[in-house]
Amino acid sequence: MTENAPLVIVGTGLAGYNLAKEFRKLDSARPLLLVSADDGRFYSKPLLSTGFAKGKEADELGMQDAAAMAAQLDAEVLTGTSVSAIDPAARTLTLDGREQPYSDLVLALGAEVRSLPWREQLGERLLSINDLADYGRFRGALVGRKKVLIIGAGLIGCEFANDLSLGGFEVAVVATDPWLMPQLLPEPVAAAVQRRLEALGVTFHLGCGIRELAASDDGLLALLDDGTEVRADQGLSAIGLAPRTDLAAAAGLPVGRGVLVDAQLCTSDPHIYALGDCAEVAGLNLMYVMPLMTSARALAKTLSGAPATVGYPAMPIMVKTPACPLVVAPPLNAAAGDWQISGEGEDLRAVFIDPQGQLQGFALSGAAVSEKALLTRELPAWLS
Ligand SMILES: Cc1cc2nc3c(=O)[nH]c(=O)nc-3n(C[C@H](O)[C@H](O)[C@H](O)COP(=O)(O)OP(=O)(O)OC[C@H]3O[C@@H](n4cnc5c(N)ncnc54)[C@H](O)[C@@H]3O)c2cc1C
Repeated sequence: MTENAPLVIVGTGLAGYNLAKEFRKLDSARPLLLVSADDGRFYSKPLLSTGFAKGKEADELGMQDAAAMAAQLDAEVLTGTSVSAIDPAARTLTLDGREQPYSDLVLALGAEVRSLPWREQLGERLLSINDLADYGRFRGALVGRKKVLIIGAGLIGCEFANDLSLGGFEVAVVATDPWLMPQLLPEPVAAAVQRRLEALGVTFHLGCGIRELAASDDGLLALLDDGTEVRADQGLSAIGLAPRTDLAAAAGLPVGRGVLVDAQLCTSDPHIYALGDCAEVAGLNLMYVMPLMTSARALAKTLSGAPATVGYPAMPIMVKTPACPLVVAPPLNAAAGDWQISGEGEDLRAVFIDPQGQLQGFALSGAAVSEKALLTRELPAWLS
């Protein structure tokens, strides 16, 4: 029975849809079913943090709807449908109260936004943006409003600070982080980005927690740990993402920072695979587009009968802070080495060198981004 069942991909983000596209290049016959909790529109998630500067509505960012994707992929696409359980022994999924058999199953579940304690009580005044629907909701909440409080100074918080400023909003950023994007940048490079964002009008309260966040005058009032009060019309929570692992864990599959898979993207069950933000691939949970595209190509081969392992070259990330061009290749082991920084003003070159003298990562800002290609060639592969 399961041999005639479809290949099922759960999730229609960039991981799910790109896998389906790659798979169809190699196998045009096998039945394919995609299941998604959202509306199944195909869109590029990185564009969500450049949409305000470009004045884009959510509908303008959606590239194809689920019906068009189904036709293009010769697949069935079930939308608005949450998978609530996996039975690996029976090779079935529970969705909408019924059992769906699968021959092979791929988890492309993405990651969940971490939630602040005030989320429920503040409703629409405090939102997060992690998909197209969130983006549409946030744009709606901003109509007639001017001041935005962003909580979190990681990559996504900084990109939205830049984008919302360019979109005409007054932006304040509050974060417990000592400097911007501390997981990616050494302090001097972060300071360069901060200066450029401040020149745009963004204000920062760093190294500071929020003691209380309350609704006030149809907006928000944040009381910070240092006693400062920050008022805003709208809040945007950007305190990070956690890979969606609950479904896999409940099915007895090992999870760590993500659903644990080997270099063939296979879990401990030979018929269940994972890729994208939800997966920890051979010890790496890389929540970026390039790794999932590389994974999709390898997994498509495996699922079409030619087992393949995934390899990751070092893949630098272009951070979308146009106020200060920025490219980073974070060291995989930030404890084993030191940053060496050169340059002037906002044009900084930071290289992370291990005790053997090998380049393990870099962060380039301003004019120094021109060195990206040269330095990338010197980096060791992330997974070989
Ligand atoms: C604002 C923003 C900007 C970014 N910018 C960049 C960038 O510039 N460069 C870069 O490399 N990366 C960037 N990223 C990260 C990148 O976008 C993600 O790594 C990538 O889009 C993740 O794709 P995914 O398919 O794994 O997850 P998602 O896109 O989150 O898709 C998950 C899918 O799983 C479905 N799903 C979840 N649970 C269930 C369930 N139980 N049942 C059914 N369906 C379910 C969801 O509905 C969804 O369809 C950015 C991320 C954000 C939020």
